[in-house]
Amino acid sequence: MRKFNLFVISILLVFITVSCVKENRPAKTQKNKIEFGLIIHGGAGNITPENLPKDLQEKYKAKLKEALMTGYNILKNGGHSLDAVEKVINVMENSPLFNAGKGAVMTDIGTCELDASIMDGKTLNAGAVAGAQHIKNPITAARKVMELTPHVLLGGEGADEFAKEIGLPTVPNSYFYTPHRLKQYQQYKQKQKEKSTSSIKGKIKKFGTVGCTALDKYGNLAAGTSTGGIPFKKFGRIGDSPIIGAGTYASNQTCAISCTGQGEYFIRNVVAYDISARMEYKGSSLEKAAHKVILDKLVKQKAEGGMIGIDKYGNITAVFNTPGMFRAFITNKSKAVIKMFK
Ligand code: ASP
Repeated sequence: MRKFNLFVISILLVFITVSCVKENRPAKTQKNKIEFGLIIHGGAGNITPENLPKDLQEKYKAKLKEALMTGYNILKNGGHSLDAVEKVINVMENSPLFNAGKGAVMTDIGTCELDASIMDGKTLNAGAVAGAQHIKNPITAARKVMELTPHVLLGGEGADEFAKEIGLPTVPNSYFYTPHRLKQYQQYKQKQKEKSTSSIKGKIKKFGTVGCTALDKYGNLAAGTSTGGIPFKKFGRIGDSPIIGAGTYASNQTCAISCTGQGEYFIRNVVAYDISARMEYKGSSLEKAAHKVILDKLVKQKAEGGMIGIDKYGNITAVFNTPGMFRAFITNKSKAVIKMFK
């Protein structure tokens, strides 16, 4: 009987030890867990040290850092991923350096027409505006479409009217112009007169759209994208940036994605959703899924561009098939990284 008791006690001891070790394991991973993080982009394209003078490189770095830290501080203080995405993009929309908000490219008739979208990975709610001409911060309007209307996408005059109605700052279209964009437009018009628009269209290969994806402390993902579109687009043309699933996607099941590049290809290939779907249905990692879509599928179609993303575990990825992409990222476990070239 005593022998039997000793046997039972030792079995119990083994059991207790094993369960303690087991409990410790998640505790250990918990310690290394990425609690929050974000990655931003300022567009992909022909961004090389030769094409970008040093002083301009410094300006981009400083603005990317400002945008990144705006989001980081929101997340660090317990803010939501949607707030981080919106506020980060506002910083870049207000800067003339990027093709979003102030500094947007012009259409073939010399107007600025802005597209933006935002998606909440927790609820799969989304909002977008397309072809807006007077909304100072299109990403904020996109968020309001999501929160205040039963719709996902408002276009053109309707989007501008909606922004006015709810009291968002609106501006004359000329607010978006910068000397740089006006010069580009004049050159375009000149070439058009000389009937060689293809050469100038080919030359402007720096896109400059902005985007942000974030994971907050509550495990919620969000993504947003804002752009003026592609230079000298036909007026009324809408790209991938305001199209949920093409330029922007977020789901707490998988990841949050924001894309930049030749929008028509991103629409046709439903790029952002394709990456998420590969993760959901194939079990691919974010990185593997993004590589497949950007570096294989799109390259085979000669489509240029890139993406940024963060998955539900806080893993961060930036993949592009162009010479460069403005990008920056940070998590609670890693320092800020700011890059623009390969
Ligand atoms: N994807 C955007 C568009 O086609 C352009 C860009 O990313 O720069 O409108």
